[in-house]
Amino acid sequence: MIYLDNAATTQVSEKAVRAMLPYMNCKYGNPSSIYELAEHSKHAIEHARKQVAQVIGAKEKEIYFTSGGSESDNWALMAVMLDPKAKGRHLITSKIEHPAILKTCSYLEERGIDVTYLDIDEQGFIRLEQLERAIRPDTACISIMTANNEIGTIQPIYEIGQIAKRHKLIFHTDAVQAFGHIPISVKECNIHLLSASAHKLHGPKGVGCLYVQEGLELSPLIRGGGQESEKRAGTENVPGIVGFGVAAEEARKHMFENSRATMRLRNYLMKRILWEIPYVRINGSTKMRLPNNVNFSFQFINGESLLILLDSEGICASAASACHTGSAKPSHVLMALGLPEELAYASLRLTLSADNTKEEMDMAIERIKENVEKLREMSPDFADFSCEQGKNGLSYK
Ligand SMILES: *Cc1c(COP(=O)(O)O)cnc(C)c1O
Repeated sequence: MIYLDNAATTQVSEKAVRAMLPYMNCKYGNPSSIYELAEHSKHAIEHARKQVAQVIGAKEKEIYFTSGGSESDNWALMAVMLDPKAKGRHLITSKIEHPAILKTCSYLEERGIDVTYLDIDEQGFIRLEQLERAIRPDTACISIMTANNEIGTIQPIYEIGQIAKRHKLIFHTDAVQAFGHIPISVKECNIHLLSASAHKLHGPKGVGCLYVQEGLELSPLIRGGGQESEKRAGTENVPGIVGFGVAAEEARKHMFENSRATMRLRNYLMKRILWEIPYVRINGSTKMRLPNNVNFSFQFINGESLLILLDSEGICASAASACHTGSAKPSHVLMALGLPEELAYASLRLTLSADNTKEEMDMAIERIKENVEKLREMSPDFADFSCEQGKNGLSYK
């Protein structure tokens, strides 16, 4: 099997698994209890909090553990926008956010919140002038993702943070794809709220965090016990949090070498596909982009069909986004890029990890080449197109 879907989830690292195991068997105490067994759990959580905080230059007390990226996104937007003391009832976000943001925005709109959805340019970036123009006296918050999960583009979060500062707005960023993958400083970027998730950086599923800048009063989303400084009730997912901490520390320590290794493989894959397969395009900027992400559109084919063929040959990839699988609609991100619908349906997203090898890239490239050709042979549009080209004296290949 060749796994090229690391934006959907990652394999839990050996180190994280080993660290988690004791908290599932012998060290099972509830961190809220008072005996020594409970102390182990309590200390483990506080150690993990430090490990996670270090990734983004935060203080330990600014990290609140949650069940993952979706909860953190829901919590941030709901708490900020439904706060009776909010500066206003207007929120600015972008058209290419994750559904955890976009569906929370729809929910908020039903409750009288006004939401502006910023466009992106043909490279996949929001326009800062458009952001600044969208700000109104009743704007309370800007929520723009750090890096996109489908096309990997990295937004200018430093500049967005400066705009938020100038207008005294709360800045939230969904950094689930970026956390532990690229350097982020919450202080330098003036980020008030940041969502992260463990399973996107070789940690376990079902655990993540929300960074909340010190001094920002946020009401809880989950009410109950006093866990997480009364901000997030529920007995802590101790093994999950421990795994998250270890994965976060590993990601921070090896960020540079991991990103260099994955970028080298990704660029090799990208170049060979562009050279060896005709009628293909890269979606999103090739510069400000996550090191492990590439997103193609192969003209005249259906991305889902390509995925199924690749899967039958042991290659795990994705058409645009796991979140769209099973839905008949083309990706909202690719449509926002301005792609014609047929190219939005013709996409293939490959997301690498530092564990991938050049041999795997070579195998994947060959399989993609064969299957794209196979699907094009069956495509009536491609037959028409080749015929036209032939008449003009051009030939395919
Ligand atoms: C995966 C992802 C999420 C959701 O995180 P979960 O931990 O799976 O809930 C949110 N935003 C982005 C950008 C993601 O890639």
